[in-house]
Amino acid sequence: MTNETVLIRCRNCNTRNRIPVARLQDRPRCGRCKQSFPPISITNRPVMVTDKTFAAEVLESPLPVLLDCWAAWCAPCGAMSPVLDDVARSYAGRLKVAKLNVDQNPATASRYSVMSLPTLLFFRDGQVVDTAAGALPRQEIERYLYRFLNR
Ligand SMILES: [Zn+2]
Repeated sequence: MTNETVLIRCRNCNTRNRIPVARLQDRPRCGRCKQSFPPISITNRPVMVTDKTFAAEVLESPLPVLLDCWAAWCAPCGAMSPVLDDVARSYAGRLKVAKLNVDQNPATASRYSVMSLPTLLFFRDGQVVDTAAGALPRQEIERYLYRFLNR
């Protein structure tokens, strides 16, 4: 855990900084412009997001976000849920895991054209950089995350 790093984009000069996860809470500064980053909240469990909180929680997140689009009636979503809980624990500080109930939050679901459930959307700096449809086993999610977090 102590050697892990995360890429954070500076809002002031747009430079991407590689920051040790262990230092995220110390208000690190940008290597180029020396402006300190806003507080970065670290959570080890999935965050529920809604149409109202989506922009703040996902689009503005300094950490990369894995968004799980799910519904209560979707059995594969339920099967994948404990896997995502576990991912949130393992990747705390490097990744935010967020969950969107598509029935209760149709605006966001339709904005991203979520057609099948579950759908995983990978956000970095407010943009979708990868998607995965259908329930995935843990090692497949790990493969996506490896690509996502190291690009
Ligand atoms: Zn900067």
